Amino acid sequence: MFRRIHCTVGVGPAPTPEFYFPPSLWSYIQHLTLMDDCFHLTHGRDQLDVPNMRLRPPSHIPHLYVCEEFLGPVVQRTLRQMPLLTKLSLRTCLGVVHGPYWTFLRFALSLPHLREFEMVGLTFCPVVLPDEPFDLDIEGGTCAPLTVFRYEAILTRGRKYAISVEKDALALVLEKTHHSLVTLALPSEPAPISLMARLDWPNLRELRLRGMRWSAPRTPLVILFANMPKLRSLALELRIPDDGDPEAVWPPGLPRSTKFPWPELEHLTVANPHPDDELFAHLPPGLRTLALPSCPRECVKDWLWACENPYCLLAHTFHLLQASRLLGVLKRCSASGLRHLEIEYGTDEREHDLLRFLAAAFPRLSSLSIYRYRGSRETVVCVEDVVRPLASLEGLQALTLHPDFETRPTRIVNIMRGGRLIYPTDALERFANILEGAALRIARTLDKSLERVSLWTPSDGEGPFSANFSVFRDDCTNDVRIQREADTPHEREDVWGM
Ligand SMILES: [Zn+2]
Repeated sequence: MFRRIHCTVGVGPAPTPEFYFPPSLWSYIQHLTLMDDCFHLTHGRDQLDVPNMRLRPPSHIPHLYVCEEFLGPVVQRTLRQMPLLTKLSLRTCLGVVHGPYWTFLRFALSLPHLREFEMVGLTFCPVVLPDEPFDLDIEGGTCAPLTVFRYEAILTRGRKYAISVEKDALALVLEKTHHSLVTLALPSEPAPISLMARLDWPNLRELRLRGMRWSAPRTPLVILFANMPKLRSLALELRIPDDGDPEAVWPPGLPRSTKFPWPELEHLTVANPHPDDELFAHLPPGLRTLALPSCPRECVKDWLWACENPYCLLAHTFHLLQASRLLGVLKRCSASGLRHLEIEYGTDEREHDLLRFLAAAFPRLSSLSIYRYRGSRETVVCVEDVVRPLASLEGLQALTLHPDFETRPTRIVNIMRGGRLIYPTDALERFANILEGAALRIARTLDKSLERVSLWTPSDGEGPFSANFSVFRDDCTNDVRIQREADTPHEREDVWGM
């Protein structure tokens, strides 16, 4: 029962030997999650490009961006006494330029049994101090042969100060682990892309890059990552620069000898797809999941980090493909065996053609996610009309839909909560009833295979939610009823990392 330990650090004074839990348990732990909650998280939150010189860290912290929870020998001694530790997760819930200093990372990554390293929210090595040896060659050992390296940043844009150091630190890690890694997830901004293109990746099954599309190298991704022949899951969730346009993963005009480099691919995400992308014409027969979202999603606009920033320095640019252009993308797709499809588009006169086409082209879909946006605020949404073209999908079990109802609540200024914009509670309750009626009409319109409907709904939390409904059908009377289940938060990644 002690194989997995999850604890929050930073609520008390600096680490002590009893810092985490009784030493008698240390030798059983295989997976340790440390949730950083240190007081100094506020440092680095307000100044993303350069350290705020007016703020001085306490004297025992060597730099404004260094997290004090990972300082000193105690935390290292504690981890060293966990001989079964194979997975280390370091997390925080806030967007900060703040993280473990290199000395700790260098130590943790050399733990001999460590195979999985995960960091969420914190910054991977925000700074290297003058007395820190910047390498991974530790006395008596080196970097562990990691199979999983997953790094998810909450904030990536505008973090120029930290990114140059991070990129060098990540390059050190990847140079040591590229042979063993099976799973790699990185924010795109500090990812050492040129190095990744040069290394070989004989075991990499899963690659995920999320953040702003890089300006260099300009090599098409189909060539850049052709050195990852074992990929089964590829997620390219790349934002388009404010002055840029969507780019193809496989642009037209490449030499005829160009081959699809990932024959075992089963799951593919390409955010902001380009209508002329040759990639979609070469998808392998084993592909089961295709996601073509916008990045960032328009429907999470109210929750994106820029809204928290009083100066709105990081305004977001949204790119939304129109239904007619998305139809062009899907018509190129060579993946008739798809089981899961996600699309996002602005409605136009071809929307019904799009939905009819996908129902015919991908008859084996078991789940479908549609994020649609009305072209005009005056349009009234008739949800039966939207989903009727999908009624021929005889294996569809789960439908997720952002219908863009005109009845969606709007936020108002709440004086009692410091002038914050909030959704009025009674409006949210009224909207919940609207969604329930819509879910029932959807269930009655679609095939009897449907088991679950999830509808987008706003919330006053850190992101929107899905309102979930189970579908029940009486085989004798063909009567359909639904039951509301617990709401679930939108994927955190939709709101973070932008
Ligand atoms: Zn901290």
